[in-house]
Amino acid sequence: MNRREFASMALAGVGAGIASTRVLARGETTESSVGKSADIVLPRQNAMAGSGFSTVVGEGLLSVLSDGHLQLPASFLQPEGIDDAALKDLLIRYQLNGDTYAPACNISVWQQGDRTVLFDVGAGSQFMSSAGQLPGALDAAGIDPESVTDVILTHAHPDHLWGLLDDFDDLLYANANIHIHRDELDYWQADDTLSRTPESRQTFVVGAQSRLARAEEQLSVFGSGDEVLPGIEALDTRGHTPGHTSLAIHDDGESVLIVGDALNNVALSFEYPGLPSPADQDPELAAETRMALLDRLAADQMRLIGFHLPTPGFGRVERGAGRAYRFVAEEG
Ligand SMILES: [Zn+2]
Repeated sequence: MNRREFASMALAGVGAGIASTRVLARGETTESSVGKSADIVLPRQNAMAGSGFSTVVGEGLLSVLSDGHLQLPASFLQPEGIDDAALKDLLIRYQLNGDTYAPACNISVWQQGDRTVLFDVGAGSQFMSSAGQLPGALDAAGIDPESVTDVILTHAHPDHLWGLLDDFDDLLYANANIHIHRDELDYWQADDTLSRTPESRQTFVVGAQSRLARAEEQLSVFGSGDEVLPGIEALDTRGHTPGHTSLAIHDDGESVLIVGDALNNVALSFEYPGLPSPADQDPELAAETRMALLDRLAADQMRLIGFHLPTPGFGRVERGAGRAYRFVAEEG
């Protein structure tokens, strides 16, 4: 499926059942979850202990754990194509007008039946000192890394992939199947990727190649539109990277989209989705992807979790003026 088909097709089914989505406050429960508790044990108390955010989706529990945050230069907030006054106004409104840009890193955890699924694994200890906190968050949540059954990668940038290894360079999720889009894997593993990458980002390539090689026996590839695991659908959101994927969780008539970095800035991605971003490897394609994604998310009122949106990054999209949108955060 190409990206235009994705825009018209892939998300069409994703919106089904949105109206019945329930978002529960901490410790709340519903008739349906009570009724099913005999055969489905959700470690809700444990999962919430580490992060403060969990929400029931169908028969499963979706939580967000923090990997910390990134420290990026303010140039990440200065795309071309916007006039200075408008940009200044935008950044002030979102309190992003400091000297640096420190987006959150939100790791989604899906516990359903006997599966524990991580969406990305954070930065590990070798990328940025402000990130790499997922192991501590898992510990606080009572989740043993060895109990993780699946890792689904949205893409292979350092802040999403490098946490596959622990401080001793051992594979942290030793019993997990690690799922990655075939185009993403092919891109990072290609012989010429390093030479085609600007020097400033070559560590991304070396780091991805070494970690994907280490995890080779655990890797499992998927394609756009595939059901990666029962109830988890891969949506093509490439542009940020060549095989970037968002994952739609569907369970018992409810859906949430794990968007990864397809919408990675709470101000610019939503209010100026058509502008190129220096964070994206293919800025034009990423902008096309963003606009298609926002259009469907707003139309379907589907809830989402954004990896770099303000923690926990859970909410939905509203249409604004013109081609603009707005992220509406929701509490779990
Ligand atoms: Zn990222």
